[in-house]
Amino acid sequence: MVVEIVCVGTELLLGDIVNTNAQYIASKTAELGFSSYFQTVVGDNMDRIKNAFEVAFSRSDIVITTGGLGPTADDITKEAAAEFFGKKMLFDEKSWKNIEEIFNTRGIDITESNRKQAYFPKGSKILYNENGTAPGCIIEDERRKMIILPGPPREMVPLFEREAYPYLKGFSDLVIFSKSLRICGIGESSAAEMVKELLDGENPTVAPYAKEGEVLFRITSRAHDEQTAKDMIRPVEEKVREALGDNIYGEGDTSLENEVGKILIDRDLKIAVAESCTGGLVSAKLVNCPGISKVFIEGDVTYSNEAKIRSLGVNEDTLERFGAVSEQVASEMARGIALKNGCNIGLSTTGVAGPDGGTPEKPVGLVYIGLYINGDVKVKKITIKGNRERIRNYSAVRAIDILRR
Ligand code: ATP
Ligand code: MG
Repeated sequence: MVVEIVCVGTELLLGDIVNTNAQYIASKTAELGFSSYFQTVVGDNMDRIKNAFEVAFSRSDIVITTGGLGPTADDITKEAAAEFFGKKMLFDEKSWKNIEEIFNTRGIDITESNRKQAYFPKGSKILYNENGTAPGCIIEDERRKMIILPGPPREMVPLFEREAYPYLKGFSDLVIFSKSLRICGIGESSAAEMVKELLDGENPTVAPYAKEGEVLFRITSRAHDEQTAKDMIRPVEEKVREALGDNIYGEGDTSLENEVGKILIDRDLKIAVAESCTGGLVSAKLVNCPGISKVFIEGDVTYSNEAKIRSLGVNEDTLERFGAVSEQVASEMARGIALKNGCNIGLSTTGVAGPDGGTPEKPVGLVYIGLYINGDVKVKKITIKGNRERIRNYSAVRAIDILRR
């Protein structure tokens, strides 16, 4: 089956807006395995829109339109489609109720022209829009299928995902299967470098995504049946696992804190956290894990030297000799918070989050993570590039990552 996108809107022709709808929809239909040979942009004009439909259906089986569903007189995509398919426009009570409700909650008076948005070509399937007043619809006859979607991307994308994607999937003869591997403790470019030769594959594809101190590798395969698609993933997955080893902490929808939390809960390892540069981020992440209350005892933000001394028992002398951002202080913080709470594990962070305060010996991005486990303390030194937010976030992720190693 061949798909063609027709974007309606004079503002697109004038270059006032970028046609991101076409880009988005094209990537989705390609993902579903459809061929697509043409895209059209047409202005808000009845004859020209009908002509665009004529031409599109002369070479494609499915036409997807966006735009021109608003209440104003120049929004005429549905009307053009009705004329093109030779159908009347019918009023839909449910759409009208939804539109009234949106106006009520926004506290705006509804106008008679808004009724226009509740009319659809007879026999079409209405795609109710949860994010705006313009519902879409699907019209079919024996040989032609048209999916009509609103113009604003924040309305179009959710409606596409909820309605158009599953509808299109029914005509696609490809099965798509994907698997995500989650990686921590290594940057996106180093991770990508380690699986370089796999990134050029076309089927399966391997794509890295960086996300808040973590990296996600998505392996996606397409085949004519599910089993084949799954089987195609396996050898590639094995290669990725071989290359990245224990940097992979999980797969699918899990998160680092969930995986680490599970380990702590399973082994009944009580933990307390003392944070300086991460200012509570480590604790905040840990408590994302359901059930963590069984083992997570206390999280302190000891930002000042005074608090490090008073709450954690860090030596004044240590702070003076080595400075707050030091291996020694990270170590005393981790030990201090663990002993104070009688925990198996004490975790600490201290670092230079920037943008000010860096020195040649202790540059911005230098972070020490202290880990006390049943009497032993080790400290990891890391250097992070980036702004304050990234340094803090990445430190928190790395601190949690240390717990699983
Ligand atoms: P509305 O009810 O907002 O009028 P509509 O379905 O009639 O919705 P249009 O009037 O065509 O849609 O477009 C409304 C807005 O949506 C545009 O001003 C633009 O910001 C955005 N938009 C429309 N078409 C596209 C497109 N192809 N790509 C990206 N943005 C678009
Ligand atoms: Mg409009």
